[in-house]
Amino acid sequence: MPQSVLSGGPTLPQVRRLVTAIPGPNSLALTARMAKAVAHPVTPTMPVFAAAAGGGVVVDVDGNSLIDFGCGIAVTTVGNAAPGVVEAVQAQVASFTHTAYSITPYEGYIRVAERLADLTPGDFEKRTMLANSGAEAVENAVKIARWYTKRDKIVVFENAFHGRTNLTMAMTHKEMPYKAGFGPFTPDLFRAAMSYPFRDQLSGPEAAERAIAQIEAALDPGTIACLVIEPIQGEGGFVVPAPGFMAALSAWCTAHGVIFIADEIQSGMARTGDMFASTFEGVVPDLVTIAKGVAGGLPLSAVTGRAEIMDAAQPGGLGGTYGGNPVACAAALAVMDMIKSDGLLARARQIGAILTGRLKAFQASDPRIGDVRGRGAMQAIEFVKPGTLDPDPALASAVAKYAHSQGVIMLTCGTYSNVVRLLPPLSISDDLLTEGLDILGQALVA
Ligand SMILES: *Cc1c(COP(=O)(O)O)cnc(C)c1O
Repeated sequence: MPQSVLSGGPTLPQVRRLVTAIPGPNSLALTARMAKAVAHPVTPTMPVFAAAAGGGVVVDVDGNSLIDFGCGIAVTTVGNAAPGVVEAVQAQVASFTHTAYSITPYEGYIRVAERLADLTPGDFEKRTMLANSGAEAVENAVKIARWYTKRDKIVVFENAFHGRTNLTMAMTHKEMPYKAGFGPFTPDLFRAAMSYPFRDQLSGPEAAERAIAQIEAALDPGTIACLVIEPIQGEGGFVVPAPGFMAALSAWCTAHGVIFIADEIQSGMARTGDMFASTFEGVVPDLVTIAKGVAGGLPLSAVTGRAEIMDAAQPGGLGGTYGGNPVACAAALAVMDMIKSDGLLARARQIGAILTGRLKAFQASDPRIGDVRGRGAMQAIEFVKPGTLDPDPALASAVAKYAHSQGVIMLTCGTYSNVVRLLPPLSISDDLLTEGLDILGQALVA
């Protein structure tokens, strides 16, 4: 199919179709140009160049149609080039593209803030600030917590991923490739043990007791500004903490005046079958960081939380040139409309049931699959050497590579790089979802 007749969104045929080897000749030509023009540490997972995307597929520059189990890292949750997003963006872009909210503001920013106040857990008064990337949201949440508490220290967890800026690199756990060679990092940081039921066999309260004992042994709680945690870890391996872990930490934070920040950048915005994964844990964070799925692919992030904390810093202390760009705000409002009007929370749960069913079935006959975990459309399998907890990163990488060669976009993750994660868009058909899972099954055999 010639590239010129392709348009994205749901008009794309919803099929897996391979017309060349993966990558095809046009992608190979672009890869050669990439090597001479783009900094090499910016390294694509699959050197397959996109021409269009929508529903559950990405079509490449050779006309191959790939099943999308990656969503551009959990971003295009409502679908790629989703019609509501396209329409809202086109209308906004034709009216104005930027004024800087901190110079001459506009209503779209306020509407996003109003909607996020409704959608995030907790029915107290809230405020929101908008930024561009997830890392920027996390940095701002820490700034806000430090100002409010007049304390410096930050508590984070094993396997955490919070971004790639200097502060958020420090907060991120995994050395390779995220941190090696990029220091020095802030010393105001303590990393506690995460609840990881597959590996530690602890209940939530037991794991929380362990983490709290570590924190209290290392730091005076009166010096801790905030504790930052992903309710389901993302890059760190889709680790779902044991029930009660998050709630015990949240209670400890409240008792010690520590701001509890849920980093919902990957788990939020309908991905797990609820608006935010904190809800499953029965916790109400003081602050929530939001990005990825919030704006259908446009760069937007947010910190939403308790009014008294968010309002504390000096006027002008928060902001940024592009933060809450009007086009990104228009996209976010369309995403929030679609989640409601298209019943996407229920759809995420349906997808979750299909994924869990198939993944557990694979696990039943394959001792290399140590664990199947996740919620809704955020699920993963962790590979180990049979009968042990020893990670098998080579297998995870081989499975993903096989899937790529068969036209399925599949990502790995995990502190030990031994996890394959599935992040399909909520706009994927059951047929494509099943076909992608069939290929995962073939990968396990191959
Ligand atoms: C992706 C991610 C970030 C960083 O977001 P960027 O937009 O890449 O800066 C932070 N926290 C979590 C949980 C993430 O998944």
